[in-house]
Amino acid sequence: MLIVMDARATPEQVEHVCSVVELLGFSSRPMPGGTRTAIGVVGNRQAIDAGRFSALDGVREVVRVTAPYKLVSREWQPEDTLVQIRPGLTVGGPEPVLIGGPCAVESESQLLETATYVAEAGCTMLRAGAFKPRTSPYDFQGLGLAGLKLLHAVGQRLGLAIVTEAMDIAGAEQVAEYADVIQIGARNMQNYALLTAVGQLGKPVLLKRGPSATIKEWLLAAEYILAAGNPRVMLCERGIRSFDTETRNLLDLSAVPLVRQLCHLPVLVDPSHGTGRRSLVAPMALAAIAAGAQGLLVETHPRPELALSDGAQSLTPAQFKQLAIDVRRMASWRTAA
Ligand code: PEP
Ligand code: MN
Repeated sequence: MLIVMDARATPEQVEHVCSVVELLGFSSRPMPGGTRTAIGVVGNRQAIDAGRFSALDGVREVVRVTAPYKLVSREWQPEDTLVQIRPGLTVGGPEPVLIGGPCAVESESQLLETATYVAEAGCTMLRAGAFKPRTSPYDFQGLGLAGLKLLHAVGQRLGLAIVTEAMDIAGAEQVAEYADVIQIGARNMQNYALLTAVGQLGKPVLLKRGPSATIKEWLLAAEYILAAGNPRVMLCERGIRSFDTETRNLLDLSAVPLVRQLCHLPVLVDPSHGTGRRSLVAPMALAAIAAGAQGLLVETHPRPELALSDGAQSLTPAQFKQLAIDVRRMASWRTAA
């Protein structure tokens, strides 16, 4: 439920409404706006009687939020959320952000080489996994803490913000120390303890869609992070399970405009894991931008044939640089259209 205050409501009236909400056993989330303050009410298991609030001084109207997710919904917040990664770097505005890098940190030289051409291509953010969720326990699992340290050092050296995955709560605390964005991988989208933990850490979070998660489940997963107190969440579509084995996953691009209608958080797309094939990455990346994606997460490797993971879907340096140019072109077409 949202309690919309009158434009002339005094701070004391806002405070009084919040205290009534709290007295009734709910939580209040005041959200000062340009012209008026709205107070969100959460923590209710059943519908609340709107009449309890509509008669209070300074209240203009009481709006019921019909979606099962509240804090992430457009009903709750009509404007797009801009997620600040660091001063001067935000995600969610009209310019899409291109996040590039290898699937995994393999060595200092591999990471530095990749980060250098990613930065030259105009990217401000670097991705790479230090903790890798692999289907087989016998596959390369990532360099762990040593990988995080390399990411931090390379990010500092080239002025790139770092996005990297945390697979558990202890890992999330380490990632928060060394990186700018904590990625929650597809396999962990419904790890509620982890979602709550990254909600409490307060660092920006990139939340991937689970391989068989519905849109509602995905948005409810994001709700966990916001409910724990962290509004800096970005969503990332990365393909869902389908019957067809031609591609690794089925990249659900209809999720982009749909989620943007339902939710105010930035929506990014990962065409690399979404397709599993290098030749499909650029067309799907551009289609994602055309569909309204506010960013892309793309894997690239200096020598994809030697990559320790996901080489088949990693762009070559030349392909990545070309994609960065084409993304800018598609973004300016989108602005003009
Ligand atoms: C990744 O981006 O490194 C990754 C493992 O992706 P996903 O969780 O989408 O499979
Ligand atoms: Mn990968």
